[in-house]
Amino acid sequence: MGGGSGAKKRIEQLSLSEGDKIGYVYDFGDEILHNVTLEKIVQPEKGVEYPRVIAENKPRYRYCERCQEQGKKTIAAWICIECSEEEGREVLLCEDCLEEEHEDHYADEILY
Ligand SMILES: [Zn+2]
Ligand SMILES: [Zn+2]
Repeated sequence: MGGGSGAKKRIEQLSLSEGDKIGYVYDFGDEILHNVTLEKIVQPEKGVEYPRVIAENKPRYRYCERCQEQGKKTIAAWICIECSEEEGREVLLCEDCLEEEHEDHYADEILY
C-alpha cells in the first residue's frame, strides 16, 4: 500500500551484489512470490527513463486438444471442468470446440 518501513527503500540501498537473490511478494492478498536475481549492475544510459522493462516472458500458450487431433493448432481458451475431473487430466478447448462438444458442461476460462 506504499506504506511501512520498506516503502521508501531503493534497491540500491539494499547493498546487493551481482548474483544475489531476493524474494519479492507482489500482493499480500494473493501471496504471489517472485524469486528475483540481480544479474548485473550497469551504469544508467543517458536519455533513458527508469525503471524500464528490458525483457518479458512470452505467455506459455496451451492448445485445444480437439483441434490438435485434427492437425490444427488453436490456442485453448477454456478448460472443461467436468471432463477434466472425469478423465483425471486437463481437458483444454478453444471457444468453437467448447460450444460444439461441451456446451452443457461447466467450464472455466483460461487466463494467459
Ligand atoms: Zn478446438
Ligand atoms: Zn466437457
